Amino acid sequence: MAERPRLRRVAIVGASLAGITAAESLRARGFRGDITMLGAERHRPYDRPPLSKHLLSGGWAADRTQLRSTEALAGLDLEWRLGQPAVWLDPVARDITLADGSTLGYDAALLCTGTTARQIPHPAQLSGVHTLRTLDDALAIRTALDRSPRVAVVGGGFIGAEVAAEARRRGLSVTMVEALPVPMSRGLGQRMGQLCADLHLRHGVDVRCGVTVRAFEGDRRLQRVLLSDGATVDADLAVVGIGSVPATDWLSGSGIELDDGVVCDPFCRTSAPGVYAAGDVARWHNGLFGVRARIEHWTNAREQAIAAVGTMLADYGAGDAPAPYSPVPYVWSDQYGSRIQVAGRPSPHADAVRVIHRDDATDATVAVYRDGDTLVGALAVNAPKLLLPYRRMIAARTRWEDALAVR
Ligand SMILES: Cc1cc2nc3c(=O)[nH]c(=O)nc-3n(C[C@H](O)[C@H](O)[C@H](O)COP(=O)(O)OP(=O)(O)OC[C@H]3O[C@@H](n4cnc5c(N)ncnc54)[C@H](O)[C@@H]3O)c2cc1C
Repeated sequence: MAERPRLRRVAIVGASLAGITAAESLRARGFRGDITMLGAERHRPYDRPPLSKHLLSGGWAADRTQLRSTEALAGLDLEWRLGQPAVWLDPVARDITLADGSTLGYDAALLCTGTTARQIPHPAQLSGVHTLRTLDDALAIRTALDRSPRVAVVGGGFIGAEVAAEARRRGLSVTMVEALPVPMSRGLGQRMGQLCADLHLRHGVDVRCGVTVRAFEGDRRLQRVLLSDGATVDADLAVVGIGSVPATDWLSGSGIELDDGVVCDPFCRTSAPGVYAAGDVARWHNGLFGVRARIEHWTNAREQAIAAVGTMLADYGAGDAPAPYSPVPYVWSDQYGSRIQVAGRPSPHADAVRVIHRDDATDATVAVYRDGDTLVGALAVNAPKLLLPYRRMIAARTRWEDALAVR
C-alpha cells in the first residue's frame, strides 16, 4: 500500500478571514508543523465588514479592524510573507512562487485569495473614482468623503448601499446608479428589493434605476458621470460597487480547475492533490441547495476555512473523514441604522416570496422564500431574532407549508 504523505508544511495563500481562521483551526486541532501565511496586502489580517460600516464614518481607526491581536497572532507561531502576492503555483512540484521570485514548498496548500472589486474602465489620470474592497480603499474613500464631495454610488448592492448611507449621514448629496429596475431585485425579488430601495429614498438618495455608467468625465478629477440614458450626474467622488471577481488570475495555467473561482469538491478539495480552497474564492457544489456557487459572505469564509482544514487533516491521516460542506449562506448589512439579514438562497420570482411579519412602527419585516414546496431563503429587516428559526428551518429543508405554520 502506498504510504500516505506526511503533513509538515502548510501554505495558506490569502492572509484574511478565511486564511487566519484556517491557521487557528490547524493549531487548535493539534497541527504543530510549519504554517506560512502569504498575503498580497502589507496588512496583518483585518476585517472587511467594518470598512463600510465603521471606518468610513471615522468611528473606528484602522487598527481596530484587525481580526486578531498581536499576542493572539504570535501564539499561532506562523511565518508571515506579507506584501508579496503569490504569482504561480506548481501542483506537481508542490511549490508557490511569490512576486519577488522566491518560492515556497508545501505539503498542503489552502487557497483563500478572495475577490477583487469589479471595475468600470475610466481614464487612468482621472482621480475620484474608487472601489471598496481593501483597508487602503476604505481609507482613500474616507479621505475623499471628508472633502464633502457630491457622491455617485454605482451599484445598489450591499456595499454601494452602505456607502450611500454613510454619505447621507454626513449630509452629502448622493446619487445611486443601478442597472436593475429595482436595486437588489436579482437576489431578493422586486418587492423586497423595493423595500431596500425605499430606505435610500426615505433618506434623500437620488436613486436612478435601469441605467448604467457610460463614462466618468472630468479634467484630471472626476466632475460628472455620464449615464446610459444620456443623463449626467455631477459628482466629485464615485464609488463603484458592482460586484467582485475571484482572485484566481495567478492560478491560470497551473492546471487547477478554475470556473468563476477555484472549483472544489464538496469537501473543499481543488482538482490538485494537496490543494484546498475556502472563502469568497471557492466555488463548489452545495448539496443542500443543489447548486454550484461561490458565497461571498463573512460567515462562509470562517466556516469553510474550518471545513477545509478538516478535510486536509483527514487526507493526511490526522483527522476523521469530513462531511460534505453544505452551509446555509448568511449575510447582513447595516444601513441608516437598519440591519438587513439574508439567509439561504432567496428566489427573485414574485410568487416565491411571502411577507410573514411587518411592523410599520419599527420597519421590522420578515419575508420567506420558497423553491417548489421547500423553504430556501429568508430576509429580515430589523428583526434578528425572528430570522433565527428560519435559518435552522432552511438547513433542515423544511417544507414550505410547515415553515409558514411557524409563527
Ligand atoms: C466593504 C465590505 C463590507 C462587507 N460587509 C459584509 C457584511 O456586512 N456581511 C458579510 O457577510 N460579508 C461582508 N463582506 C464580505 C466579507 O468581508 C468577505 O466574505 C470575507 O472577507 C471573505 O474572506 P476571504 O478570506 O475569503 O477573502 P478576502 O477577505 O477577500 O481576503 C483575501 C485575501 O487574499 C489576498 N490575496 C489575493 N490574491 C492573492 C495572491 N495572489 N497572493 C497572496 N494573497 C492574495 C487579498 O489581498 C486578501 O487579503 C464585506 C466585504 C467588503 C469588502
